[in-house]
Amino acid sequence: MKQIASFTIDHMKLLRGVYVSRKDTAGTEVLTTFDIRMTRPNFEPVMNTAEIHTIEHLAATYLRNHSEYASKTIYFGPMGCRTGFYLILAGDYESRDIIPLLTDMFGFIRDFEGDVPGAAAENCGNYLDMNLNMAKYLAKRFLDEILNNIGEAHLIYPN
Ligand SMILES: [Zn+2]
Repeated sequence: MKQIASFTIDHMKLLRGVYVSRKDTAGTEVLTTFDIRMTRPNFEPVMNTAEIHTIEHLAATYLRNHSEYASKTIYFGPMGCRTGFYLILAGDYESRDIIPLLTDMFGFIRDFEGDVPGAAAENCGNYLDMNLNMAKYLAKRFLDEILNNIGEAHLIYPN
């Protein structure tokens, strides 16, 4: 079988950041897929599932309530390798376009207090598998070390 495009990027050269990994068309609409890399692939420990799960619930809640992006949000979910998340938006975007959105979203997660939305048996398939404190720590780390002063190396995939 043909190797899919995202596997052809040299993951040894990948840094943390926000990257456009593909653009697809569905009907007349362009769909942009972003890779949100929160840990450096193959160089530092990946995130544990509980904090990934918590970030997933909080980010999905944030995006689906957003005044501008709620109607454009097609998908948000974790990468199987546990180094980050996929975000798919309806529209033709560059990675820099969504830095304000992601800065606000990770600020929401960093500052979140209380019950994680959807963390109940009726709403989720594994609701006890949550770690809000680690989710907040990872959101703060991504903001402080990457999003708040982001340059090209963290926005465009290496050739
Ligand atoms: Zn869940």
